[in-house]
Amino acid sequence: MKMSTQLFTPLREAPAKADTVNHRLLVQAGFVRQTMAGVYTYTKLGLIVLNKISQIVRHHMDTLGSNEIHMPALHPSEPWKKSGGWDNIDVLFHIKSQTGKEYALGQSHEEIVTPLMNEVIKSYKDLPRSVYQIQWKYRDELRAKSGILRGREFLMKDMYSFHATHEDFLAYYEKVKASYLHCYNHLGLVAKATEASGGNFSDKISYEYMVLTDAGEDDILYCPECDYCVNVEIAAGKTQCPHCGARLQAARASEAGNIFDLGQHYAEIFDLKFTDKDNQTHVPYMGCYGIGISRCMGIIVEKCFDERGIIWPESVAPADFYVIGIGQQGQKQAAEIYQRLTLEDKQASIFDDRDLTPGAKFAAADLIGCPYRLVCSDKLGENMVEIKRRDSQESFVVKVDALDELRAFHDSLDFDKLDTMFDWDDYHQRCTKFMHELAEKYGK
Ligand SMILES: [Zn+2]
Repeated sequence: MKMSTQLFTPLREAPAKADTVNHRLLVQAGFVRQTMAGVYTYTKLGLIVLNKISQIVRHHMDTLGSNEIHMPALHPSEPWKKSGGWDNIDVLFHIKSQTGKEYALGQSHEEIVTPLMNEVIKSYKDLPRSVYQIQWKYRDELRAKSGILRGREFLMKDMYSFHATHEDFLAYYEKVKASYLHCYNHLGLVAKATEASGGNFSDKISYEYMVLTDAGEDDILYCPECDYCVNVEIAAGKTQCPHCGARLQAARASEAGNIFDLGQHYAEIFDLKFTDKDNQTHVPYMGCYGIGISRCMGIIVEKCFDERGIIWPESVAPADFYVIGIGQQGQKQAAEIYQRLTLEDKQASIFDDRDLTPGAKFAAADLIGCPYRLVCSDKLGENMVEIKRRDSQESFVVKVDALDELRAFHDSLDFDKLDTMFDWDDYHQRCTKFMHELAEKYGK
């Protein structure tokens, strides 16, 4: 991708009235534009990141055996009236058509998916089943704020599972819980499975996936010794970890996802039934599992930045390399490097080919936050390139041929190897070591 072809590029000044880091940096770097409070346009750069996050989440849901579908955002009012959500969910958007007919904008999809599954689930042989979608959702928030963390319109992955027995549901629930921790890890986040209340229709415990950040809207208590974590809303004066006895610590956190045991509530309302071996009729058990895709993008920025801009984790970065040329020879060299990187992978690099000062290009590289900055200049000389990682102050001048090895090193990373936690700390240490080896081998 060439920066000269981009319509939305980094701004010299941070936007006025940005109340959070993600709002300020995502706008200034050119990933989003605010249309109104809680509603954003995603630029080409922003869409690349959003799609990368979606793809990682999709990979995990597919592996859980779930079928991807796409349900509408515009809903008839009838199922919402039937479930009671029409009157009881205060953030549900109500819409009236020109003929006076009422509609809702989806803030969740139980009301749509449960009747839909009537076609699929007839007998015990049709269970379990699981479907998911990645879809824009709407909430009539009184106060939309915190950039893309708390939107009136936001992208979510929501999955719904259907089971013959509560035991079968619980087994799947455990699988999803494990998969979620891997999924957040692959996005470069550390999420804590936090006990929370079951929400509107459930007296059961649900789990919220919380990422510690001061920009968050929730207060949690977590155990510093083990992985126990509880939302303050249901902690009821708890001070000690029920698992290991350590003193719980308070923190602000942002909810990156949640999973609910819906029991038979929706299946009963929408008359979803199945027959067993003896032709007896039963009501299936349901689970609901959400991940806030656009919110995760905001949380990542809240966790990964410095005073100069965003530092994307490699798994979701808009490109691996940001290529800059300085001077006539440097520009030519940079264009060649860009060509070479793009041949193998169209999205591997961004080439800042704009007619700007070196300082402006360096500032853009830092704001946009790709993992590696590559600079060619007349001063460095022919066939030489300076490599700098975005998360390090060290830079290395090496022969251009070193890039093939850097590429191979980067491609060997398995961020989303299923059922494996990617060790980001170890990876960053390996990067530092690798860069020094590269400098030794290809330096002047
Ligand atoms: Zn503990």
